[in-house]
Amino acid sequence: TDNMCGIFAYLNYLVPAKRKEILEKLVNGLKRLEYRGYDSAGLAFEGSEMDVNDNVIRMIKCKGRVSMLEDEINSLKDINYEKEYTVHCGIAHTRWATHGEPSPVNSHPQRSDPNNEFMVVHNGIITNYKDIKALLEKKGHTFESETDTEVIAKMVKHIYDKHSGTKISFRECVELTIQQLEGAFAICMMSRHFPGECVATRRGSPLLVGVKSQAKLSTDHIPVLYSKGQSHYDVTGRDSLKDGDLEDHRGFINTTQRLDSTTEFHPVGEESEVEYFFASDASAIIEHTNQVIYLEDDDVAAVKNGCLSIHRIKRTLDESTIREVITLKLELQEIMKGNYGTFMEKEIFEQPESVINTMRGRVNFETNQVVLGGIKDYMNEIRRCRRLLFIACGTSYHSAVATRQLLEELTELPVMVELASDFLDRQTPIFRDDVCFFISQSGETADTLMALRYCKQRGALIVGITNTVGSTISRDSHCGVHINAGPEIGV
Ligand code: GLU
Repeated sequence: TDNMCGIFAYLNYLVPAKRKEILEKLVNGLKRLEYRGYDSAGLAFEGSEMDVNDNVIRMIKCKGRVSMLEDEINSLKDINYEKEYTVHCGIAHTRWATHGEPSPVNSHPQRSDPNNEFMVVHNGIITNYKDIKALLEKKGHTFESETDTEVIAKMVKHIYDKHSGTKISFRECVELTIQQLEGAFAICMMSRHFPGECVATRRGSPLLVGVKSQAKLSTDHIPVLYSKGQSHYDVTGRDSLKDGDLEDHRGFINTTQRLDSTTEFHPVGEESEVEYFFASDASAIIEHTNQVIYLEDDDVAAVKNGCLSIHRIKRTLDESTIREVITLKLELQEIMKGNYGTFMEKEIFEQPESVINTMRGRVNFETNQVVLGGIKDYMNEIRRCRRLLFIACGTSYHSAVATRQLLEELTELPVMVELASDFLDRQTPIFRDDVCFFISQSGETADTLMALRYCKQRGALIVGITNTVGSTISRDSHCGVHINAGPEIGV
């Protein structure tokens, strides 16, 4: 599935809501996304009773089900559930780990710093996060999680801090950040510096905005705003991440088109009260509103003072310069399964996208090189081995059968393919110079795991191939490859 798990955000503007109601909306949004499968959940909201300054952000995260997150929220002692907010932003996430095992600290929101200045929820994979992380670490940022996502929050803060004293907007900080990101993302962010605001953007991962208002909307579409001039700052270069790059963006900011009443989107009339919902999937929005806007790649959507605007860095020929407000007519079930009868069918037809997700950040099509970060340090040992064994069950076993010939041709090593149960029954001889691959979607398949332990005991090199970060097979392997194909529902 192209969409690695769930984003849900809720912003109320002049629609008074009690904290209790806001938290319920956020949790319910996550529950609507549960069908996708996930390993952890988390959310962030504004304000805290513990602090006189109300401009603080509080974050709650846990490994496991959304209902566990809910329990955690309900057991908070130092919180006033009755407190009412006329303007408020909250963001929430269900995670399918790709970088770092499922744990509270690796769950989203990820934050810029211990003061929760900038918070991000993210679907997808930032393939150049290591470079950005190294750069930010050099500039004094310390990271708390193993995720690729954390670089986003820290980069936004870095840019914000660099421009302290200027009037840089939240949206501009995010715009400058995403120019440095490679890979796939849907992102939703909030900040204690910009209470009641939300910035969302995407590239290669879906994200939509739902709008709910009693009043008629000012338009049935939103014009896209462009940053008019190009600054000295290279916004397109793929390898533009250099040391000085985060330093000076003034030229860029000054050329940004100003908002005016004709380019804003808001409800008309006396009442300008409005609610916005950001989600990776319409199923989380449909119970609140059927008025939605689908964001395009590299759109940056920002809500400020109750107005939604959509921005792009530069205009390319024949691209649409408006985003239409679409009226969804679908039922919840239909949205979840699309036009497919079952999740099994859906996942089969989504295989082309899953394959792209698997290759993301690993295949260089210009140099025809593949780098698998999880096994690259073991390549010499693998090359020197006596034989390769592929051990698995079911479909994982068949994937090995299907690729055996290719592997033999490419490696010129003998390749054995084994059904884990049969392999164990036979007490197959295993030697120290064998390399054993264990393939399992869940990383928990019992027979495969037993075979892994059997081979490990005999001194072979153990390579895990799973789709589940932090699973037993990933943890017990010497090295391995995480498939990053997104969660499997149609088991
Ligand atoms: N790559 C991110 C992580 O591992 C986001 C995963 C997701 O899409 O849930 O934290």
